[in-house]
Amino acid sequence: MTTLLVKNIRTLVTMNAERLEIHDAALLVKDGIIEQVGKDIDLPITADDILDLHGRYVVLPGLINTHHHFFQSLTRCIPAAQNYDLFNWLKSLYPIWNNLTPEAIHVSSKIAAAELILSGCTTSSDHLYIYINGITLDDEIQAIQEIGLRFHASRGSMSVGESQGGLPPDSIVEKEPDILKDSQRLIERYHDNSRHSMLKMSLAPCSPFSVSQDLMRESAALARSSPGVRLHTHLAENRADVDYCMAAFGMSPGDYVDAVGWVGEDVWHAHCVQLDDRTIRNFGGTGTGVAHCPGSNMRLASGMAPIRHMLNHRVPVGLGVDGSASNDASNVMSEARLAFLVARARELDARAMTPREALELATIGGARVLGRDDIGCLAPGMSADFIAINIDRPELAGAHHDPVAALICCQVSAVDYSFINGRKIVDQGQLTTLDLGKVVEEHNRIACELLRG
Ligand code: ZN
Repeated sequence: MTTLLVKNIRTLVTMNAERLEIHDAALLVKDGIIEQVGKDIDLPITADDILDLHGRYVVLPGLINTHHHFFQSLTRCIPAAQNYDLFNWLKSLYPIWNNLTPEAIHVSSKIAAAELILSGCTTSSDHLYIYINGITLDDEIQAIQEIGLRFHASRGSMSVGESQGGLPPDSIVEKEPDILKDSQRLIERYHDNSRHSMLKMSLAPCSPFSVSQDLMRESAALARSSPGVRLHTHLAENRADVDYCMAAFGMSPGDYVDAVGWVGEDVWHAHCVQLDDRTIRNFGGTGTGVAHCPGSNMRLASGMAPIRHMLNHRVPVGLGVDGSASNDASNVMSEARLAFLVARARELDARAMTPREALELATIGGARVLGRDDIGCLAPGMSADFIAINIDRPELAGAHHDPVAALICCQVSAVDYSFINGRKIVDQGQLTTLDLGKVVEEHNRIACELLRG
């Protein structure tokens, strides 16, 4: 049994039901689980490991990312795709992604995870939907296990190519029986549905314009045969996506997911920029989650998702940085700031989202979207996933009267400490589990090779 005491915390943001913030606080961890949270003077003074934060740090639950495509860090900022909307952006990138390899998936997963962790993320989902040239989801899972991020892996898929009326080229899609067989294999091999799990599985047919309704239904049936396996896809990302649904299925995106059984507490949809009111009410009533990706939605000119409206109707909402080719950053804190700004700009209302509500989306909101009650909040019995940020930094100068709101308002983009499952993964701003310089070099080499084809 090992214990860790974090003491002299200036402000500890619990994100518990009362949204308690404790000043002059301490946190005691035993074997990766939070044992005690409270005032410094009320906690033990000894432990196996002690981190003294000298009254200069804010501690908060680790941030949670609910939508990403790790491999896209290899194709960030490609000149030919910089000024396109969703469908044209995808069409310009599919031929490059056609050259992806198992090594490319492994190395890009490490880079994406490193960028996420250094900016405060402690749990991420990822949606890998390209399986060519021998790629398997194992390539990504092994990379994430090495770095130590809590992970929700999604077995994505594309099965409807251009010749069948889909958007992706035929060369990049799979056969549906192969997808379902591999999904079953991955669930059996990796899915751990226990409390404090470091790895859970989801099934994630990519989007209405790249899979069939049969695959949606069969993936849902397969996921629901294993407790804790969730369902994830892209939905109503922009107007063209809505138009595609109407033309191909004669239904709006909301009616389409309802028809194929993709609503409920075990489902979350990415983007939902163009959801109609009826669907928002349906999602709120059924507990269907949404991954809000404001950076990507603006970058691809998709629009501004009606998040205030969703929250008013009790839709579970978390944040997603989305793939690094459409953001092009993997920074959940920055995404929380964008969510805060976009809600106000969309509603023309300065009360549409407060800085603390943006932090809620990034923590407890993300936990709910991923179906977890053991992360997103700092309280006894929760997983010891937390981050610490020194307030003596230029971005926060002048904002010490409310450093918690300042994390959002002033844009803090890196953390000083990060603990995941009680393990120190970031120490004084440096990753402890990866030789980052070496991986950046490998990643850049692979990115060049991909472009050359
Ligand atoms: Zn996406």
